[in-house]
Amino acid sequence: MVWSQVSTNLVIGLSYLSISATLWLLTRRMKGIPFSKAYLAFGLFIVSCGVTHFIDIVTIWRGVYWLDVTLRGFTALASAATAIWLFPLFPRVVRLGELFQAEREQSRAALQEELHRSEALRRKLEATEHQFREVVENLPDLAWSAAADGAIDFYNQRWYEYTGTTPEEMVGWGWRSVHDAQQVEAVEAQWRASIVSGIPFEMEFPLRAADGTFRWFLTRVRPLRGPDGEVLRWIGTNTDIHEQRLIRGELKRAVEQRDLFLSIAAHELRTPIMTMGIQLELAERALDDAPPARKRVSTALTQLGRLHTLVEELLDVTRIGTEGLALDKGPVDLVEVAQTVLARSEARAKRAGSELRLRGDARVVVQADGSRLDRVLTNLVNNAIKYGNGTPVTVEVTLAADRAEIAVTDHGIGIAPADQARIFDKFERAVSSDNFGGFGLGLYIVREIVLAHGGTVGVTCEPGAGTTFRVRLPL
Ligand code: ADP
Repeated sequence: MVWSQVSTNLVIGLSYLSISATLWLLTRRMKGIPFSKAYLAFGLFIVSCGVTHFIDIVTIWRGVYWLDVTLRGFTALASAATAIWLFPLFPRVVRLGELFQAEREQSRAALQEELHRSEALRRKLEATEHQFREVVENLPDLAWSAAADGAIDFYNQRWYEYTGTTPEEMVGWGWRSVHDAQQVEAVEAQWRASIVSGIPFEMEFPLRAADGTFRWFLTRVRPLRGPDGEVLRWIGTNTDIHEQRLIRGELKRAVEQRDLFLSIAAHELRTPIMTMGIQLELAERALDDAPPARKRVSTALTQLGRLHTLVEELLDVTRIGTEGLALDKGPVDLVEVAQTVLARSEARAKRAGSELRLRGDARVVVQADGSRLDRVLTNLVNNAIKYGNGTPVTVEVTLAADRAEIAVTDHGIGIAPADQARIFDKFERAVSSDNFGGFGLGLYIVREIVLAHGGTVGVTCEPGAGTTFRVRLPL
């Protein structure tokens, strides 16, 4: 009997202490907890209840009734105070409960609405995805889509038919297995760079067909972006360009062969033409006292001059096409170049009845490729003689603050405004070949050389007053 008194009082007392400790901790941990003072008062009341139970244990053996009654009095006070203080709190607690309930209902309704909305969005996305796959399945190309990180999650039927693979083999980066081992690293590097930068991918590479053979494809991949510009997915197509590539290769080889032939032919023709020219000039001089024969030789020389120009043009054009325009630059005096060209053209001009004049500054030095500028001036002077109708041809070389200028002027047939731009293109001519022979390459060569020097070339024509070609070169 005594020990059950002791044990039950001990358990009750300790529990009371533990409950108050918990309440104290709760008010400390949860910031902003409502009625926290009520919790503390309640805790104090329970502590004092617990203490009375400990006193009950003591009074079994020792009659400390005064202490017992004092502590009980304190407990009675704490209990009564808590009870009285709790009473007016009652309606506020009820109100708080109601508010809490209303808030919960409100958030449940909002959640419900959010769920509906995301369900509608999901269905819309599903429909879009379905449409996308329909379109992709009907493409003649191999097509696929990848996640933003580049892992491919969908291939159309054409892909599986062509490669003879299964969806399981193709998951993620499985596409590597249908690539040429020599090229797959380059393809992957470029693809990874696109994934990082978000820049569309475009590349030509071979893909292995189901029968093990390779065909060339043009692959284009574009990013699909979200409202903030972020990449959501990648859409890729592989277009079979195998035949085009073969044809392209054959065409390239044919063009190379043609250029090679032209360059060899032109080169080989040059030497006999030069020799013939020297021989004819000697014969012309020797025939001073036989005018009819001299006239014939002179005509032969004119024709040979034309042949020489054509061969030089062919050689230049094939060189530009195959070797590009490598410039061998050094200080070049344009006046000196003009003097050389004019001296070389003297005989030709005389035969055409044109007088050659040189004007301008005494010395105009630029950093340039001298032999190429010789070619530019030769072509312009030849044209001025050819289309100048026997009028004087003037070459003027001048120096400005930041550039040098060469102007070649004749007073011949002129060029219609509509033709002035196109005559600088390959094979473009503004005269009938019945009246004037030529390939239409001279001005093209002029423009290429001038552009390679960072300069410009243009033409001005006064109606009926002839033509001026103006070349401007940086110093
Ligand atoms: P080609 O003289 O072999 O036809 P060019 O490229 O040298 O080729 O010239 C292209 C065309 O520009 C010529 O066919 C001619 O119509 C025109 N052209 C060039 N220079 C002159 C000029 N000085 N006067 C009139 N027309 C010219």
